[in-house]
Amino acid sequence: MSPHLARCLLSSCLLAATALGADAEAPMKKEAEAPATAPATAAPADAAKPATEAAPAKPAMTEKPAEAAPAKPAADGEMKKDPEKEAKEEDPEAVTITPFRAARLPTAKETRTFHLAKLNKPLAFETTRELQRLFAAFASQHVVDAATGDFSKAPGSMTAIAYTIVQDLGENRFLAKGNWPALNGDPLLEGKDAFVVLLLDKPAAVGSTGRCTGLHVGMVALGFTAKFAPLEGRKLTFRREAFLQCTPVDESAAAMQKFVEAIQKGAELSVITTDRVACKPCGGLGFTREAQKGKIEDKRTPCKDCEGTGKLPLVTETKFAP
Ligand SMILES: [Zn+2]
Repeated sequence: MSPHLARCLLSSCLLAATALGADAEAPMKKEAEAPATAPATAAPADAAKPATEAAPAKPAMTEKPAEAAPAKPAADGEMKKDPEKEAKEEDPEAVTITPFRAARLPTAKETRTFHLAKLNKPLAFETTRELQRLFAAFASQHVVDAATGDFSKAPGSMTAIAYTIVQDLGENRFLAKGNWPALNGDPLLEGKDAFVVLLLDKPAAVGSTGRCTGLHVGMVALGFTAKFAPLEGRKLTFRREAFLQCTPVDESAAAMQKFVEAIQKGAELSVITTDRVACKPCGGLGFTREAQKGKIEDKRTPCKDCEGTGKLPLVTETKFAP
């Protein structure tokens, strides 16, 4: 049942991403509004920190999902932002998870095609070495589809998460405290004892610890009743990073062979890489020259495009073809 669930959450996350677009970055002001008054440990606020830093606050968009809901003025202010809650109001145990901000990925500026047929031909960029480099990047951006065994594009960053289950939210969804490293080059910041929503493959017991490869699917709004001290029994609304347990593509020779065969059979696969390339405006020098009257030396002005480094990041999507 978990793969199905996983897909449900994933598709709803993606759906929300499409619906809300770039506007989806909302302020954190509603963060843990219920526990804010609790004598609690500072944990909820701390946990929100990485996300806050990642998302510069913009004017309120928090209420947006509610606009689509039937317009019944809610008596309780907290109810307003959760359309599903109205129906479930009677059930104090009901858990609602609403996609809130989609995972962010780099957008490619250039596109090129890697033709397997040109591999190691004179002057071709299609070398064995380049194929290996691209496959390593491919493996970090794709997951193995549990149902078919095929490669699927990962809609977010993948990372290794060490977690402790705090509360079972039902259907293999959990509130957990997690630690994960910052991903170099990816827009996912490090998590340290941060509350997260996990969607695991298997059931897990409260208090148990574990490790998994998690696929970051963005941020969700989580409405639930706490079953842990000192917030026991309180109805909370959290904004939390959400991760989906996944099977990463391993970087073995066998997996690469399978990858090459998939392309030869016509699979449409691509990978996004970020390279530092010479800055064009300054020709990679980091400054521009200007001849000065009566002086032998040119005047040098630091290049604004590359901030004097001579290099610019170039995000390229490489598509693969037979
Ligand atoms: Zn420059």
